[in-house]
Amino acid sequence: MKYKRMALAACALLLLLSATNLSAVLTDEHPRYHQHLERPAYTPCAEHDGETLCTHLPLVLIDTGGTEIPGVPIQSGGSGREDDAFTTTADGSTLLRASVSVVDHAEGNNHPADTPTLQSVIDIRVRGNSSRYFDKHSYLVKTLTDDGAASRDVAMLGMDAFDEWALHGPYLDKTLIRNYMWYNLAGEIMDYAPNVRFCEVLLNGVYQGLYVMTETVSSGADARLKLTEPSKDTVQTSYALRLDRGSGNEVKNIEAFSQYALRNLQDMDIVYPGTKWLTPERAAWIAQDFSDFEKSLYSYDYDTEPYAWWEQADMSSFVDYFILNEFTCNYDAGWLSTYIYRDVRGKYKMCIWDFNSACDNYSHPVTEPQHFELQYNVWYYMLSKDEDFINAVIERYRALRQGVLSDAYLNDYMDAVVEWLGPAIDRNFSVWGYALDKDMISPAGRNPHTHTEAVAQMKRFCAERGAWMDEHIDILRQYSHESKNKKFNH
Ligand SMILES: [Zn+2]
Repeated sequence: MKYKRMALAACALLLLLSATNLSAVLTDEHPRYHQHLERPAYTPCAEHDGETLCTHLPLVLIDTGGTEIPGVPIQSGGSGREDDAFTTTADGSTLLRASVSVVDHAEGNNHPADTPTLQSVIDIRVRGNSSRYFDKHSYLVKTLTDDGAASRDVAMLGMDAFDEWALHGPYLDKTLIRNYMWYNLAGEIMDYAPNVRFCEVLLNGVYQGLYVMTETVSSGADARLKLTEPSKDTVQTSYALRLDRGSGNEVKNIEAFSQYALRNLQDMDIVYPGTKWLTPERAAWIAQDFSDFEKSLYSYDYDTEPYAWWEQADMSSFVDYFILNEFTCNYDAGWLSTYIYRDVRGKYKMCIWDFNSACDNYSHPVTEPQHFELQYNVWYYMLSKDEDFINAVIERYRALRQGVLSDAYLNDYMDAVVEWLGPAIDRNFSVWGYALDKDMISPAGRNPHTHTEAVAQMKRFCAERGAWMDEHIDILRQYSHESKNKKFNH
């Protein structure tokens, strides 16, 4: 009996050691790559043949043979957009077979006629929700083998090899740098935030402006979330979920506790594992597993051992997500584009996504009067009742204000990125202009008329938001006390 206990203790110790190693790998293996710090700014070529596009940014050349890329909304004319359909290819597919060439020299400038550094067959469609309605489209790009028969992992613009990319075209964001900046700052402090690279895009030879090639939130053998891969022997798996408007692939859509309990009115879909591993049985297991977590989160003993929420959810990940989205008033967070993931051996973590409307870039002002909002949204509704969580938010916020969220760091970061982008900024606006003539995307009275003005607005926003939060973040403690015994109604 004694030896059995000793053997058990040894096993437990081994497990503990391997868990510790795992977390060390997760945090140390991905030092953040800031493109503007790693790559030189623009220096004109010594010799040049006339009018050709010459840029220090990577060039992404998309060739569809002239066919229009599907996924553009067909507006139904109704008051809402729920009824709008999207364009498809001639054969009814949502994705168009096309090809991409990338010109991304390690040194010197990039030109459209240069020998490509990467070529691939791709499937492509217009992506996004409200951004699909913008004139400047963003795209989902899936890289394929030469015969198009299978997905192909490529190291796009130096990022970890994978087969799916979001090619985001900043349009509503006249600074052009919101996603680049906030994804990178999140990547500095969180275990994972999607990697980003600026590039310029040509579609069938026509210049399309400045884009940000972005990792999609998923997992791969050597990339991204580094989730433990599914096994054939069990339906149990690591997974990543998204709160948004659901997936066109029904197997990916799940209904979890927060939905049937009406705590969350959005749709939820599985973004990892991908279709290769996602059997209906596995999807059902994920829905049940996530529901179990949500049920315990909404239960009366959610903040006491042994059912305490922090045994299942990574406190620091939820804290950082809260702070970054509150600091930027990114109020889609917790409703749309909201990613949560869990390794089969680990705890739930959050992943940031989409800062286009952040920093007072919604059509309505978000800072008058100033307030906090995420504590009303889905899982944060319960976390924010827990004083330990709120105390962790406040302590971490004050520390970050001495670092990546300090006025000096933020202003310097914006200046450095803008300076590095250099002539690419004017090239972008020579195509798209500054006017936002659609009501839905015009931030009332705040539509910047120059890039400099747009950046100045974001700097001013950050300074004012930071000052307000410095003074008022303690009211979250009050919120926590007052809402403590309210479980379901605010
Ligand atoms: Zn050149």
